[in-house]
Amino acid sequence: MNEGILIIGAGGVGRVVVHKAVQNIDTFKKITLASRTLSKCEQLKKEVGGKIDIARVDADSVDEIVSLIKKVKPFMVLNIALPYQDLSIMEACLRTGVHYLDTANYEHPDTAKFEYKLQWAYDEKYKQKGIMGLLGCGFDPGVTNIFCAYAQKHYFDEIHYIDILDCNAGDHGYPFATNFNPEINLREVSAKGRYWENGKWIETEPLEIKQVWNYPEIGPKDSYLMYHEEMESLVKHIKGLKRIRFFMTFGESYLTHMRCLENVGMLRIDEVEVDGCKVIPLHVLKALLPDPASLGPRTIGKTNIGIVAEGLKDGKKRKIYIYNVCDHQEAYKETKAQAVSYTTGVPAMIGAKLMSEGIYKGKGVYNVEQMDPDPFMDELNKQGLPWHIKEL
Ligand code: NDP
Repeated sequence: MNEGILIIGAGGVGRVVVHKAVQNIDTFKKITLASRTLSKCEQLKKEVGGKIDIARVDADSVDEIVSLIKKVKPFMVLNIALPYQDLSIMEACLRTGVHYLDTANYEHPDTAKFEYKLQWAYDEKYKQKGIMGLLGCGFDPGVTNIFCAYAQKHYFDEIHYIDILDCNAGDHGYPFATNFNPEINLREVSAKGRYWENGKWIETEPLEIKQVWNYPEIGPKDSYLMYHEEMESLVKHIKGLKRIRFFMTFGESYLTHMRCLENVGMLRIDEVEVDGCKVIPLHVLKALLPDPASLGPRTIGKTNIGIVAEGLKDGKKRKIYIYNVCDHQEAYKETKAQAVSYTTGVPAMIGAKLMSEGIYKGKGVYNVEQMDPDPFMDELNKQGLPWHIKEL
């Protein structure tokens, strides 16, 4: 019998997925959490009153995941570990014939570059096996893709311009810390920027382009153009698109620290020798920085993530803004995780819920904007991430 979900990864986002899945236990019936460090799974099991099963797994090993899946026999696997594990978990799902979902696209540990190519390459194999893979089902990617699909379905005949706007106005009181996995976060932020215009990718220097955006419930914030993975699939799936860009806010203190760390080589991901030991500077930095999970109780303020879409409806120009505001302390009260983990974990659970209920189904590998956005938008309102639409 294939029932229930297997969640892999017991970090900040994994904790939210577990809490929200337990709130929806009627849908999932059986929830298993597996991760590299069993004690984190034990802690979460305690928090949710023992309502989940737990296991240890090294998700870099396809064989280990396959044996775990054979033991647990889930309907689907939720990959909430790191982007490095996407391919091993996808492969294990293929070998065992269970559905797959993740929140971030594959990245090789030695190359700070992420793209869908290797995951999309599973499409044919998933089709043949009769299973579904749902990629990028967090907030961005994830809800931002759903917002675009919703705009396309209900508000436009053609969308010409999309700006994705991601603001975290949370304050944790430290001079420098990252609010999700420091290694993944710093690799992303220090990379070159890129946006898509008239069928071509245009590269920028890291954080070269800045605009000030007035975020509802937060106020005006410096927002920097970055490359972000949802753009790669949205350019394929949104009709009539002429340009898509992604902006994220950063405070001055964060940027000054990051530039300084980069200038002294602390963001390097190649090995260096120190007193006869080989170390990777970014790994050393990760060990020194506050664990993102520890930021939860001390982070105050809100996040606001959304999209501005501009295009034509019935021959007339139209511009709309769809966004969600999430409060760090409210998220913490519910799940003991701050809003960045919360806004990622809730959509991952929603994706799994819609797949488990048979509302989202298919054979092959999909990005979330290929699904009907309406049931997802309804669930966002019910599961703690209400959204707003403004005509601009
Ligand atoms: P964390 O570092 O807090 O958690 C990752 C978890 O995965 C840890 O529990 C870790 O184990 C576990 N893990 C790592 N490697 C392995 C392995 N080989 N085998 C088994 N378990 C492993 O990260 P987050 O929770 O912040 O992020 C989780 C995912 O969510 C990432 O892929 C991230 O990119 C993505 N994300 C997506 C966003 C979106 O909006 N789409 C936004 C934010 C994050 P251990 O405890 O032993 O270290």
